[in-house]
Amino acid sequence: MTATAGPRTNWAGNIAFAAPDFYRPASVGELRSVVARAGRVRVLGTGHSFNDLADSPGAQVSLAGLPPEVEVDSAASLVRVAAGLSYAGLAARLDRHGFALRNLASLPHISVAGSCATGTHGSGPANQNLSAAVTGLELVTADGDVVELRRGDEAFPGAVVHLGALGAVTRLILDVVPSFEVSQRVYEGLPLDVLDDHFAAIMASGYSVSMFTGWRVPRLTQLWVKSLTEDGPPAIADEPWFTATPAPSARHPVPGQPAGNCTAQLGEPGPWFERLPHFKPEFTPSAGDELQTEYLLPAGQAVPALHALQQVSEHIAAVLQICEIRTVAADELWLSPAYRQDSVAFHFTWRPGTAAVLPVVSLLERQLAPFGPRPHWGKVFTTSAADLHVRYDRLPDFLDLARHYDPAGKFRNAYTARCLGR
Ligand SMILES: Cc1cc2nc3c(=O)[nH]c(=O)nc-3n(C[C@H](O)[C@H](O)[C@H](O)COP(=O)(O)OP(=O)(O)OC[C@H]3O[C@@H](n4cnc5c(N)ncnc54)[C@H](O)[C@@H]3O)c2cc1C
Repeated sequence: MTATAGPRTNWAGNIAFAAPDFYRPASVGELRSVVARAGRVRVLGTGHSFNDLADSPGAQVSLAGLPPEVEVDSAASLVRVAAGLSYAGLAARLDRHGFALRNLASLPHISVAGSCATGTHGSGPANQNLSAAVTGLELVTADGDVVELRRGDEAFPGAVVHLGALGAVTRLILDVVPSFEVSQRVYEGLPLDVLDDHFAAIMASGYSVSMFTGWRVPRLTQLWVKSLTEDGPPAIADEPWFTATPAPSARHPVPGQPAGNCTAQLGEPGPWFERLPHFKPEFTPSAGDELQTEYLLPAGQAVPALHALQQVSEHIAAVLQICEIRTVAADELWLSPAYRQDSVAFHFTWRPGTAAVLPVVSLLERQLAPFGPRPHWGKVFTTSAADLHVRYDRLPDFLDLARHYDPAGKFRNAYTARCLGR
């Protein structure tokens, strides 16, 4: 098949793709021949990563043209999904079959395969990241072969969060649960020092909880509590120490952005896929003009880490649009930022402008270093390969897996060389 025109930047526009050739195969057969012929190749999902992870020194391939199949196996509580589909494309179809995914990220625009490749997550102390729902995957490896991996296979926990380095994933099989309803409420103005004694209780006050602060004043600008409708309103608001007030109208977490872009609030019940993400699929998510950084560290270190960030809050606030704090349950996936560690995730939506943001990112990394922060693979970070090897102790095993499926390094790029040392 012949090369075609493709997106020249990532979603944020901070990365100009250098890949000289772009392909959009319409079948797995076409994909296999593109991969087999290419000297170097990487798959592009929906391009929502904020670094050069999806770029390629050779071919770049989108799987958005493969048939968008969604096959529900009700008896086994599984769904088989074409890798190029977005969560927005999957969720409504899944719900029509009476099923749901346990959790979603802040936006439904991202592709299922690209999200699982980076360990993308939502929030909730009992909710694992989105990759943890994967029970099987099919991928086209370097020589064009199709390989299937299932939960229980030895290589499986290494292959789910793969950073695009093992092959082109064509299909994923995900765990599903019966559909459920969620209501979300936003509270405003909780002083940060309340978190010293009540961080875990607040994070456990709903199915999925997000704290937002601008680091300009020592309080949470917003606290989003997404509760299962069957559980009723969050009891936390009845605690004597809980001084936040319910927002009287819908809110957007990023100052100055329209609340109409966000999913329904004010306790109005709705289906899981219209409440778990903060942003509606038909609008630009978040601010649109932005960069993002995120670090996951042990959940038990949340309060000392908050204090470490507070020490540099002026520097953070100078380039920040909003900071979001979430929790993610531990999993067994080797490159997952929550590998074997219940985690707190500190996320930063920056103003655009890499030059101004990078020094603050390095500062954050120094402040958080005592807590062993694992950066989100798809965001802006400056952590060295040596530190990544310390924080992701299965990285050597992952590299063995990459050498097994891709001995000649066809799926390598500048990012894998810089971050993984391959
Ligand atoms: C506004 C916004 C909000 C965000 N919110 C969250 C959030 O709430 N939680 C969170 O954790 N992250 C969040 N992210 C980050 C985002 O979820 C990740 O960067 C995710 O990887 C993006 O998915 P994508 O489909 O755009 O992947 P891409 O950026 O296109 O690719 C990511 C990686 O996956 C690989 N890949 C993609 N598809 C395939 C495939 N089929 N086969 C092999 N490799 C493949 C690529 O090669 C690349 O290595 C957000 C990003 C944005 C822009």
